[in-house]
Amino acid sequence: MCDVKQGKPESSIETLAVHAARPTERGDGDVTPAIHVSTTYERDADGAYSRGFNYVRDGNPNRGALERGVAALEGAAAGVAFSSGSAATLALFQIAASRGRIVATDSCYHGTLRQLRDLVPTLGGEVRLVDTTSVAEVEAAVDADVALLFIETPSNPLLGISDLAALARIADRQGAVLAVDNTFATPILQQPIQHGARLVVHSSTKYIGGHSDVMGGLLVGIDTDWLDSAARLRSAAGAAPSPFDCWLLQRSLPTLPLRVRRQSDGALEIAEFLNGHVSVERVHYPGLRSHPGHEVAGRQMVGFGGMISFQLRGGREAAMQAAARVELFTRATSLGGVESLIEHRASIEGPGTRTPENLLRLSVGLESPVELIADLDLALRQAR
Ligand SMILES: *Cc1c(COP(=O)(O)O)cnc(C)c1O
Repeated sequence: MCDVKQGKPESSIETLAVHAARPTERGDGDVTPAIHVSTTYERDADGAYSRGFNYVRDGNPNRGALERGVAALEGAAAGVAFSSGSAATLALFQIAASRGRIVATDSCYHGTLRQLRDLVPTLGGEVRLVDTTSVAEVEAAVDADVALLFIETPSNPLLGISDLAALARIADRQGAVLAVDNTFATPILQQPIQHGARLVVHSSTKYIGGHSDVMGGLLVGIDTDWLDSAARLRSAAGAAPSPFDCWLLQRSLPTLPLRVRRQSDGALEIAEFLNGHVSVERVHYPGLRSHPGHEVAGRQMVGFGGMISFQLRGGREAAMQAAARVELFTRATSLGGVESLIEHRASIEGPGTRTPENLLRLSVGLESPVELIADLDLALRQAR
């Protein structure tokens, strides 16, 4: 785990993002960080490790730089990087299971839901799933035996919005920790710690990486006790990211503000277009006034993100046809890359999914929104 060297309070997120990717050592005058591939580190004559590293699973300069960078962007004290977002959430749930009960959202990334339903109970964890878009439901579920309140906002794939400040107050009152999966928003659009969360999780495979070419996860926060446990668990369980993967993620940080704002602006235009389309039954996008979480999202986000889901009038068949006809969108799962993706979500999530069969999910990339809209318009006309 790496602590953040506190940036100057006036540092903007753009400056922080660029500086997060600068080399920490500049012995050779490097402007871009070097990749440290060594798996093992030399001991001092007296047996100490005065230079801070001993073995790659426990620590590496590229990993430390990435952890400090993302923690700085989230306004966190420290971070722990994992080999995937799933490794980060499972570490969080494993630590929680040893401390008390878990109350978690019933609407989130399907892999996270699978961990909460199937995996965490086998590790001795007691999980209760609730609709966290309802403050009253969370209030009723969180008591003094709860160690962790886990939410994802906006949530995958229905873009549900949970009220960060209200849920943080409930967690605080009961001595529980609020942890937020901030993958969809990124620290550019939403900083959960500012609203009272103590831990933030990322699948850095998505927007943080941003180029669909690297897998990773991070847990950052202000609760150093949980973060110390997470770093120890990572060392023991071995879900550590490679130096090259950390370097790729660190390389992506300077462009994160530009990419995410542009993707979010494009998504708002596309959501407004879809909202008025005759072939579309319903659009799920928190930037639309009709979205049930619009007002809460407006309070806690500075943009509504690059992800949209929408349901078609013609059922599953119309959804599959529209996805087959687009040309600028690539039919693929995942999200957050520079290229726009379209996905029939229910068939990826598989049996037992509650995702509607007529739903398509869009990850809006960096192409011209006008051209993306024209592409969708043509595909939707033909699908009618
Ligand atoms: C993809 C994703 C995850 C899982 O991350 P991986 O890097 O694929 O393991 C967790 N949460 C959300 C919101 C995601 O989109």
